[in-house]
Amino acid sequence: MKLFIKKLAGRTAAAGLLLVLLAGFAAGCASAPKFTPGVYEGTAKGFGGDVVARVELSDSAIVSVTVSGDNESQGIGSIAIAELPGIIVQRQTTQVDAIAGASVSSRAVIEAVNAALRSAGVDPAKLTGKTVSSRARTSETVNADVVVIGGGGAGMSAAIIAKQAGLNVVIIEKMAMLGGNSSKSTGGMNAAETKYQKEQNISDSVQTFIDDTMKGGGNIADRSLVTILAQSSAEAIDWLDSIGAPLPRVSFSGGATNRRIHQPADGSAVGIYLVAAFEKKLTELNIPVYLNTRATDFIVDSQGRVTGVRAESSSKNYTFNGKSVVLATGGFGANEAMYTKYRPELKGFVTTNSPGATGDGIIMAEKIHAALVDIEQIQIHPTVEQKTAIMVTEAVRGDGAILVNKEGRRFTNEMGTRDVVSAAVIAQSEGFAYIVFDQALREGLRAIEGYVTNNIVTEGATIQDLAGKLDINPAVLAETLSTWNAAVRAERDSAFNRNTGMEKDLSRAPYYAIKIAPGVHHTMGGVKINTQAQVISTSGNPIPGLFAAGEITGGIHGNNRIGGNAVADIVIFGRIAGSSAARAARGN
Ligand code: ADP
Repeated sequence: MKLFIKKLAGRTAAAGLLLVLLAGFAAGCASAPKFTPGVYEGTAKGFGGDVVARVELSDSAIVSVTVSGDNESQGIGSIAIAELPGIIVQRQTTQVDAIAGASVSSRAVIEAVNAALRSAGVDPAKLTGKTVSSRARTSETVNADVVVIGGGGAGMSAAIIAKQAGLNVVIIEKMAMLGGNSSKSTGGMNAAETKYQKEQNISDSVQTFIDDTMKGGGNIADRSLVTILAQSSAEAIDWLDSIGAPLPRVSFSGGATNRRIHQPADGSAVGIYLVAAFEKKLTELNIPVYLNTRATDFIVDSQGRVTGVRAESSSKNYTFNGKSVVLATGGFGANEAMYTKYRPELKGFVTTNSPGATGDGIIMAEKIHAALVDIEQIQIHPTVEQKTAIMVTEAVRGDGAILVNKEGRRFTNEMGTRDVVSAAVIAQSEGFAYIVFDQALREGLRAIEGYVTNNIVTEGATIQDLAGKLDINPAVLAETLSTWNAAVRAERDSAFNRNTGMEKDLSRAPYYAIKIAPGVHHTMGGVKINTQAQVISTSGNPIPGLFAAGEITGGIHGNNRIGGNAVADIVIFGRIAGSSAARAARGN
């Protein structure tokens, strides 16, 4: 093992931690897939900045993994950077456990390696690693007061609250790390009448928050749930403060009348920020987490009360006995068979979801007659790069990018709601579009660098050059951009009535484009709950002992989730589920 620092693709590995693990594992991998030999690079967001992985492939093995991370050198993050590359090379797969207490950094390392593998044309999901000798399965019984299924934002919030209430809590998580879809969230958390809004003289009200959420969701959401969400939101912001995860920066976001979306002080992605803080708290509170352990069925007593969960890992069958159970397994946006059951037209769509979002909890809950609500309400995101499933953030359009079709023409108001823009992209020939921007936009938006490193951006020295690379008629693209720039100057888009994201024109070379099409993003429906997060059965009564929170539940977002409400949902209903489960476990 060698340790040294070097310059990497124009960037200095500032953290100073660059670990190269050269391995002679190729020989041992008779069943390894064939690779195109070479060195490939991938990037992912870590807690303190980008993590860059360089992966060397021979024709039959992962020969070495090199990881560098800006600002990752301190504390637990560096442990993931130091240890995971070796484990990946040794096992010849990225399907490895997170380093305990360092899920965010572990995820970043794994995602960066996956990105590098993908750029080599390798599907990381198919790299299942070297076969380990099968050991006899054993059984284990774990007794707790509260059993939480799913270690995303909702599950971790619930677990922390129940533990703070003095109960014994365990978390079961089927993936190798905590975080789920929550860790992918970039926006923030909606909350109204918060101390931060007051400090910043932002006038907002719980009632406006309720109205915005109802309206944004087509007025089909459950008003009682939306009311609780809004009423409990300021308190949830204070609670995040108390556990070391303040969200003091307040901004505008789509669908909100006032500045309401709360973000980390430095504007960094909210998901990994909260997941890291929750995870730290779990460690501090000594809450056991069973990783790589998939819940399969509820244990229900003769009175119909849920008293535990059956689960399995690769080597064990588990029985988790609990006085109450919190179901927080997230949505089903990574389960094509399931979402096409409800929405057949989504067949073949890529998904922005993390691989654990397969709807297991919904299937388990249905088996014990839980009611489902709005299950067919699935949000698609219009700008997803299809080979990598990387979602191109709305901020790119918000900062001034336009969408052009294969013919080089604009076709919609790019700032429309996700469903409308998605439908417009699908209606173009071959169902895709290019998101086009210039050098000035690139320099103003950090997210673009991640897209560049992941090789999804086409660059042209001039508009004509870009058009040539995209196989678009250069005169048409030049005309589209000059018409657009004139509209920006006139502050009037007579073609599609766009009136936001028009502060800057697109006139500074080089020019860029990313090829996009819609992808499955968020499943708004799920199990039915009441305001205490009790799961409701098909006969309309609470199922004793069972609580649910987060993306697994339905009724909060109606037919369209507005930005900032997913994080609000997981924290607020996660807390409610945790307190209700704690009360139930105490017998009151
Ligand atoms: P939420 O935002 O509602 O918290 P997330 O997607 O962030 O949802 O988290 C849900 C978590 O539940 C994910 O980490 C996922 O891997 C986990 N999970 C899904 N199904 C199971 C299961 N059967 N057993 C244990 N964990 C599960």
